[in-house]
Amino acid sequence: MTAELYHLIGGEKVKGTSGRFSDVFWPMTGEVAAKVPLASEEELRAAVENAKAAQPAWAATNPQKRARVMLKFLHLCQENYDELAELLAREHGKTIPDAKGDIQRGLEVVEFACGIPHLQKGEFTEGAGPGIDMFSMRQPLGVVAGITPFNFPAMIPMWKFAPAIVSGNAFILKPSERDPSVPLRLAELMLEAGLPKGILNVVNGDKVAVDAILDDPDIKAVGFVGSTPIAEYVYTRATASGKRAHCFGGAKNHMVIMPDADLDQVADALIGAGYGSAGERCMAISVAVPVGEETANRLIEKLTPRVEALKIGLSTDPDADFGPMVTAEAVERTKGYVDLGIEEGAKLVVDGRDFVMQGYEDGFYMGGCLFDNVTPDMRIYKEEIFGPVLSVVRAKDYEEALRLPSEHEYGNGVAIYTRDGDTARDFMTKVNVGMVGVNVPIPVPLAYYTFGGWKRSGFGDLNQHGPDAIRFYTKTKTVTQRWPSGVKEGAEFSIPTMD
Ligand code: NAD
Repeated sequence: MTAELYHLIGGEKVKGTSGRFSDVFWPMTGEVAAKVPLASEEELRAAVENAKAAQPAWAATNPQKRARVMLKFLHLCQENYDELAELLAREHGKTIPDAKGDIQRGLEVVEFACGIPHLQKGEFTEGAGPGIDMFSMRQPLGVVAGITPFNFPAMIPMWKFAPAIVSGNAFILKPSERDPSVPLRLAELMLEAGLPKGILNVVNGDKVAVDAILDDPDIKAVGFVGSTPIAEYVYTRATASGKRAHCFGGAKNHMVIMPDADLDQVADALIGAGYGSAGERCMAISVAVPVGEETANRLIEKLTPRVEALKIGLSTDPDADFGPMVTAEAVERTKGYVDLGIEEGAKLVVDGRDFVMQGYEDGFYMGGCLFDNVTPDMRIYKEEIFGPVLSVVRAKDYEEALRLPSEHEYGNGVAIYTRDGDTARDFMTKVNVGMVGVNVPIPVPLAYYTFGGWKRSGFGDLNQHGPDAIRFYTKTKTVTQRWPSGVKEGAEFSIPTMD
């Protein structure tokens, strides 16, 4: 019998009442492992009411105590690391070491959030004018929400709820309906860590729950991560109803390979960054841009046997390079792109479409594919594939290689491999992309920097995690203060100055 999942509202597990459910699969076997309820507007509203009631007391809790809850949560996650990683790998499909990385990169933001007594400090100017002091405070917004994708079911929920909650807000998390078990488990651990009921609510659902969040007058901010069309939709609708929003979307991350680069290092980097997690990462490298024909020919020679030798396995297989994709639909969509690439005239050097996992024929597997001679006018170049497919676009010189990622509609991440400092510096300065790696294939900034793509990879002004996250989830109040002894007699009719 398949398990029935639940919402977590007001600190309690609550059964879905809408009558609508979505299947949650185990991609390794293809079986339906659970049914997740899809919330109605009323269920979302119940979560908001709980959050609204709990938030003022939480905001009034001093910042050290809020930090201690996060610290306890960090320890509980570490104690439950193996259990969380296995649950994550089973429901998402990524391998267990990769699932551990997913949890770890989320916990690093929790560690950062533990610094809230420092991060939320305001500014103070003594004697800003005669007898006048001026200071600023960072106050929480109230009830805020996060809508997250399937591909990092631990990391991205933590990126959203940790800075929001530690700043004194109450949070509504709407995780992906494809792998909701880890987000639910994380919220349970937050309660176990001492978080008051109602401060973190998990409402499972689809567009109905998302729209209810976007239109709810009591939700003051929305953080979204997912595909670009939905990111744009969420940003437009949330800001139209007066909310603060930052919404992160899809990607087409390029790696530029200069002729002086160490091509063995490059090939290893491309294999890990292109095919790790079956390419289902927003920071995956999906386009390799070798500069010059000779570099391109040597690169294809080095990549081909490595792609052919990729070990696709069960998520629980410690030797697997990557596991299954998240759903059968994701496999079909990716294979469709490979068919399209052939039709468009790209050269398919390695074809992983027919890969079958012996004994697990119903699982959602696909082998690695490698395309050469991809050109910028092709849809397989323009669109995000989000699967184990790497495209090689040959650039005749550095200028062309710099132009390609700069002119692409997405601008999440980019990398350059070179031994030449001047070229690297020119590239990092000029490229029109939000996150840059120099001889680093997946340049995901650490928790104390901010994460965010440019162009159609990100909508809104403030990035995720780092100092921006605290700014996003707080509003600044500025106080100008004077005590009666400093007040001059008589009315002042001109605009006050400090002279
Ligand atoms: P998705 O856009 O399908 O779903 C994201 C969230 O939006 C989910 O919670 C989903 O329930 C909800 N949603 C889906 N359709 C909706 C609709 N019509 N109306 C309202 N809400 C809707 O994305 P996904 O497939 O879960 O995740 C993969 C995508 O996320 C890729 O495009 C990837 O590049 C992107 N991503 C981006 C980043 C980043 O930081 N830029 C990080 C991770 C993933």
